[in-house]
Parts: sequence; C-alpha cells; structure tokens
Amino acid sequence: CGIVAYIGHREACPIILKGLHRLEYRGYDSAGVALLNGTLSVYKKKGKVNDLENFIAGKDLHAQVGMGHTRWATHGEPNDVNAHPHYSTSERIAIIHNGIIENYASLKTHLQQQGHVFHSDTDTEVFVNLIEEIQSKNDCTLEEAVRLALHEVVGAYAIVVLSKDAPNQLIAARKGSPLVIGVGQNEFFLASDATPIIEYTNEVVYVNDYEIVVIRDGKMDIQSKEAVQQTPYIQKLELAL
Ligand code: GLU
Repeated sequence: CGIVAYIGHREACPIILKGLHRLEYRGYDSAGVALLNGTLSVYKKKGKVNDLENFIAGKDLHAQVGMGHTRWATHGEPNDVNAHPHYSTSERIAIIHNGIIENYASLKTHLQQQGHVFHSDTDTEVFVNLIEEIQSKNDCTLEEAVRLALHEVVGAYAIVVLSKDAPNQLIAARKGSPLVIGVGQNEFFLASDATPIIEYTNEVVYVNDYEIVVIRDGKMDIQSKEAVQQTPYIQKLELAL
C-alpha cells in the first residue's frame, strides 16, 4: 500500500519511519523496513507503524540506504511473516511491493523447482525470488535481473529492491501503482505519493509505467523495460504544508 525509500548521506531509518507515518492515511495492516549497511536487515510487524517502532527500538538501525512499507494484504493474511520487506531465498536481495502479481502461482511452482524456499503466502515473495533466479542464471547485474523479471510478471506493481551485493544502490520500478522520486542534493527519496517527500525537496519525478529507476553513487538513471535511456522530467511542486 505505502512505499518510502531513501538513499543519500543522512540516516535513512528516521526518514523512512516518518514517511510511513505520513502515508498512514492510506490504510494498512502491517509495516516494515529494510536497511542496507554492509548487511541487509529486515524488520517487520503486523500492526501500526508505532508497533514497528517499538519492535526496532534499541536495534542498530544505522544506514544511509533503506526502504519501508505499509501493507494492505491481498495475498496472505496480515501477519509478521507476510509483512514486507521480503527477502529472496539467499537473503541477499529484499523487496517492497505495492500491487498484485497475478501469475504468482505458476512462477512460484517454477521457482520452487529451482530450489527457492518460500516463507510467506504473498505474491511479493515470488517477485524477489524471480529476480534472484534470473540474476544467478544469467550472471547479470541486479538492474538487468529486475528488468528481465518485469517481462515475466503479470499484474500491477510499484517495487523497490535492495541488494547486499550492491551496497550503494537502490532500484525501483512501476506499472499501475504510483511511484514518485524526490530529487535532493546528493540524496533521493522514493514514495507512493509526494507527502513523505515534500519536507525535504520540491523537485519530483513521477515514474511512468514500465520504467526502471536506478539510483547509484548520487545519480539517477531511468530506463524503459527495453533498456532504453529515458530523460527524467523533474517537476517543481508547489505544496503548502
Ligand atoms: N500483494 C502484496 C501483498 O499482499 C502487496 C499488497 C500491498 O499493496 O500492500 O503482500
């Protein structure tokens, strides 16, 4: 339901949690964060963002790259395991997802045959394992694996993907579900709508369907599903807080 992500020079977790609070009006049943800082840590809980905050209090949350999610369950009951983010089988990749993957059942059977192990009942966990499967089979970059995975999934999605093997990189994509990038000074914000972003920057890019966003080393790169470079249209928002 709600997505917030950050990559830059500040502490990611407080920005993400604040952003998740700002998206609470959308409604949700669980919340979670993934933080990338040498390790890729996932914390998630059924309930409110406040429950997540109580759960992670006292943990080492230091990271300058991270993502958070509020879930509105479509596949699998609301519980801790079904909450996002979801790891791939190797736990080297994590994903957050808004939307529905319609062909998840057939993809899941195929991935199980390839040795992927599933812990949740979500369609989302299929998506992240598909990315992992494609990356290991093709020995390609994460961004290429995400791009190829988009050709295999049917449905609606806004996703953000982090990988332990790509420590200063964030990948996002959308089809059908909204996704906005906030462009700051050597920092970027991603969210389902602009409300978590506007206190940091008024320069935003609305991601189009079938676009893939790669943010790496302070630069943003947007390409089509066919790997054609796109020129981002940066809009200036005039919103009164
Ligand atoms: N279909 C996914 C799930 O049930 C994502 C739901 C959402 O958009 O929050 O976990």
